[in-house]
Amino acid sequence: MIRVSYGTWYEDLRAFVRAQAPDDRKIDETRTVTCWCGSNAFWVAYDQGRGAARRVCACGIDHLMLDSADDWPGARPEWWECAEGCGCHTANVGAGFSPLPANRGVDLAVLGLRCAACGSLTHAGNRRIDYEPSTFLLDRL
Ligand SMILES: [Zn+2]
Ligand SMILES: [Zn+2]
Repeated sequence: MIRVSYGTWYEDLRAFVRAQAPDDRKIDETRTVTCWCGSNAFWVAYDQGRGAARRVCACGIDHLMLDSADDWPGARPEWWECAEGCGCHTANVGAGFSPLPANRGVDLAVLGLRCAACGSLTHAGNRRIDYEPSTFLLDRL
């Protein structure tokens, strides 16, 4: 039986992405996204294997999340839709980041999505980051 997790609001993504981290990684920083227009529900295309994702807002903002632009041409993204049958196609977006020592950056981002209608939670992949400094990615979700 697959256990589905739900978040009662978008900030529950922070605890969810922490829980999705690999055993050898600690999530130190979490972020959730609110668009400049005030919305936090996005259409999201993602490649779970790469942890690459694109979010599109009703206001027209179309953003390749984190450093997804680097390998988006080779990605095989799918548009997220709620797997719980509620018919919703927009999600809240959050991520957790695993820090490198001495404030050099982060080496992993765990992506999470929450259905904007029913609250079901999706682990959208883990993005590996193999360069430094990479702290700027905290502001690129
Ligand atoms: Zn917007
Ligand atoms: Zn749903």
